[in-house]
Amino acid sequence: MNNEKLLEYQMNFSKRHLSLFVILLLYTANSLIIGDNDGNTKYITIMVICIVLIVDMLLAYKKFFHKIAILRVVRCIEVFVSSLLISDYGKNNIGGIADCFAMLFYVLFVCETIFSIDVSDYGKRVRLAILCQLGLAISTITAPLFYEEDVISHLFNYSFLAVVSGLSTYAFASFYGNMQNYYFRYAMSKERLLDKAKDNSDKFNEIQNSVMLANEQLGIKKFEIEEAYRKINVANADIRIQNEFLNILVSTFDLKILIEKTTKLFSDHFGLSFCGLIFKDRSLRKKYSGSFENFMDSEERKQFYEFFLSYAFIHEHRNLGEYYVDNDISYEEFPYFERMGVSSIAVKTIEADNGPSCVFVMMSNTVHAFDDKNIVLDNIFGQIEVAARNLTMYYKMQEMSIKDALSGLYNRRYMNLYFQDNFYNAKVDGKISVGMVDIDYFKKINDKYGHLFGDIAIKTVAEQIGECAKAYDGVAFRYGGEEFVIVFRNMDTTQVHFIMEELRRKIKESPIKNDEHCVYANVSMGLSTYPDNTEDLHVLVDRADKAMYYSKQHGRDRLTIDGQYVEE
Ligand code: GH3
Ligand code: MG
Ligand code: MG
Repeated sequence: MNNEKLLEYQMNFSKRHLSLFVILLLYTANSLIIGDNDGNTKYITIMVICIVLIVDMLLAYKKFFHKIAILRVVRCIEVFVSSLLISDYGKNNIGGIADCFAMLFYVLFVCETIFSIDVSDYGKRVRLAILCQLGLAISTITAPLFYEEDVISHLFNYSFLAVVSGLSTYAFASFYGNMQNYYFRYAMSKERLLDKAKDNSDKFNEIQNSVMLANEQLGIKKFEIEEAYRKINVANADIRIQNEFLNILVSTFDLKILIEKTTKLFSDHFGLSFCGLIFKDRSLRKKYSGSFENFMDSEERKQFYEFFLSYAFIHEHRNLGEYYVDNDISYEEFPYFERMGVSSIAVKTIEADNGPSCVFVMMSNTVHAFDDKNIVLDNIFGQIEVAARNLTMYYKMQEMSIKDALSGLYNRRYMNLYFQDNFYNAKVDGKISVGMVDIDYFKKINDKYGHLFGDIAIKTVAEQIGECAKAYDGVAFRYGGEEFVIVFRNMDTTQVHFIMEELRRKIKESPIKNDEHCVYANVSMGLSTYPDNTEDLHVLVDRADKAMYYSKQHGRDRLTIDGQYVEE
């Protein structure tokens, strides 16, 4: 038992002494009142015990017992004093009240002393047993001096008492000592168990902490891995888009299909509100930038073209591979994007013939749609630039292959294709009128003014024919040297007669001139209409040619309508 616990118990003993003290006082008062005649010995005993109890309580109150040594000394003194009081043991009044008090307190103090010292040690137990006999021995030896008593019988009585007292003290001390030992061992083992449990709990906490730390690190790693996966997925998606785009590029030469497919691919991938190739050339723009017409109104489009298809813009972004990206569009700067809510834009302007030929535009209604997309945009725009240039070239070559360089009209090869596609291999509804035009005495112009002037004559006539075709939704072809074909669809026959006559008159009135000469030329015309003149579309051109030949043979400068060969 540790000292603190011991002192606590001892303090409790001392507190109980107060009640004993009160009992003694009450008893004394009672004795005095009823006046028993037990003699003075009783009062001396009670008085001594009271003094001992008062001293004990004072010491406890003043906290002297905080020092274990003082406590033990006091306990020993108490034993000694109480044993002195058992002085009249052996006298006739054995079992008298004074002896009982003395005995009671002797036993009490012995017990308290045993409790105050470590009696688990054999030597201490023996010493205590002897000490407890000291007072008894003194009182026994001195008793005969006060009482006339037989020394021998007194010693005998003492010896008996000493043996009983010593043995009981030793026995009780042993019992208590064993109890202490047992308690100590129990406490130790309990403490050990507690220590072990605490150790285990510490270890468990440590493991738990390390597991938590590991979990935390795993969480961080997991987050990093997820982030890396996300980036890989984005990169994969970007690469996939580029591959798909390449596949589209190599799969078709048809610009319209290419733009359609590319637009859909990028729109889905970037979440765009508009994507497309917009040409500076009006005819191409009309042909390929159809969806842009729906996206912006005419005024917005005008402003867009003025900015992005301008020389100034191309000059600013002329370095190879450079493109324009704005991830947070200011509507003050670009008001024409506001209505559609465009917030991000990526533009690649493609140059041709030292100027902007077209722009590839991607627009998104999300802010920062093209953040971190530099690499993919670089690649896409790089490929688009090459593709757009190739396609522009291809388009030009295609135009060249179907158009006649001198007159600017479609050539005969294209005329054959046109007839194949629109008449021979298609279901034809309504009327088709074919006009044949041949310049009269053209050879003479050549001979007189030279071939170059002859070319000017062909060009001048072709211009009139081209304008006429355009005005009435027709198509004009250069059929041969100075021969032209003009085709009208679903036109009233009388109106076609009128148009052809008009054309003949206009050609006649159009001067053919260069710096030196100015001449006028006539043309002979023939006109044949399906199904009025023939139901066989294959012979329509031939019939118009025949009608024209009739004009040649009947005075030239006239129009002959198939089936109406009129002599003039
Ligand atoms: P007709 O009134 O009967 O049609 O008489 P013509 O002189 O116009 O007759 P013809 O068809 O014999 O003459 C056509 C001439 O046009 C023959 C050719 O040398 C000339 N020619 C054909 N192509 C060109 C060209 O591209 N440029 C020039 N300068 N002359 C051409
Ligand atoms: Mg001719
Ligand atoms: Mg001719």
